[in-house]
Amino acid sequence: MDDDGRIRSAAVVTTGCRLNQAESDILRSRLRERNFVIVPQPERADVCYVNTCAVTAAASRTSIQRIRQVCRLRPKPWVVVLGCLAQHERMRVESIEGVDEVWDNLRKRTELADACPFPSRSRAVLKVQDGCDFGCSFCVVSGLRGRPRSVEPELVCRQVDELVSAGYQEIVLTGLNLGQYKSADGRGLPDLLALLLSRSGFRIRLASIEPDGFSERLSEVLAEDRICPHFHVPLQSGDDGVLTLMGRRYKAADYARLLEWLVRLRPEACIGADVIAGFPGESENSFRRTASFLDALPLAYLHAFPYSARSGTKAQTLGDSVSASVKRSRVAVLREYSKERSLEFRRRFVGSVREAVVESYSSATTDNYLHLELERGVSCQPGRLLRLRIVERLGRFFGQPVAVHEPSAIRRYRNIET
Ligand code: SF4
Repeated sequence: MDDDGRIRSAAVVTTGCRLNQAESDILRSRLRERNFVIVPQPERADVCYVNTCAVTAAASRTSIQRIRQVCRLRPKPWVVVLGCLAQHERMRVESIEGVDEVWDNLRKRTELADACPFPSRSRAVLKVQDGCDFGCSFCVVSGLRGRPRSVEPELVCRQVDELVSAGYQEIVLTGLNLGQYKSADGRGLPDLLALLLSRSGFRIRLASIEPDGFSERLSEVLAEDRICPHFHVPLQSGDDGVLTLMGRRYKAADYARLLEWLVRLRPEACIGADVIAGFPGESENSFRRTASFLDALPLAYLHAFPYSARSGTKAQTLGDSVSASVKRSRVAVLREYSKERSLEFRRRFVGSVREAVVESYSSATTDNYLHLELERGVSCQPGRLLRLRIVERLGRFFGQPVAVHEPSAIRRYRNIET
């Protein structure tokens, strides 16, 4: 409420990764505490926060576009820019006409502190970790977000309890480097997961986790049915020479062994990866090695990005030797691979029944990350869990409801059959 007693409205526009989404949800929660009404459209807001990303040159461009769009609105809201681009290129952001405030990451951290998120989607994304000290040569974000730090397990549990009592049945745990999760007394990700699993009423999905984040201890917990069989494991390259230049801490063969192990642990798992195309020094042969390496992996999808040099990174000193057109064609090859794998993966589950969270009135996502359209006439609240039989029609994948779960009675959902 402002000084005249008028209710103020706020909108949060987000670009970038799940971590940014999670932070935007925390920001919404803070704004509600301050009596703002949250509106989805910036044009209806008195204040608009733009939470930006700078992971690639394309992400920075998208962030700048979103800031400009908001600044062009008439009447213009008060515009606050935060996030990695605000930290990385503060002067550039400040120079955009209409930007009223810029928060660096320290200010953002102070403002958001430990609030429980106010999710804007049907799955609650919860940030449990931030920062990374792995020092990958291409990565600008770890420098911008600082050293690893984690939310204490007891606070994570309290936030999960709040989200579950608000009706969320899937909690997505996220962090910049989730495998580096460590509480003040040394408890790691397996301990956090075990603690969460001792509570009931929800399932857990892990956001991206680096190959080095997996361990024997983690495997015991990942075998639990209430952990969604969906693992996003960044690869970046299948060529050992390029991996070394990237400062990654594993060889391609280690990655392949890890995926074999994950498939043995959870045969139904959807496993995805990130790959960068055109890193400096990636020759035709190295790219070919990556492509044939990928062919042998049990991946269900890929996120492929063209390399872009980011200022302040070690890789910037390596130059940018691969031309834009070669990067484009390599990305196209990788995206085609991803399309084929994704189709194969979805077809594998046609006819089976899986538990899915309702995303909107017309779509749902299964535990193993199949995005399904809901059959017409299905009416279910977003956020609820449904058991869906998967059917394919004319190249589209639908979910036919089998039975609705009550929030307090989430059943084991792996390989559920009617
Ligand atoms: S693991 Fe590498 S790419 Fe990921 S945040 Fe850390 S430094 Fe960046």
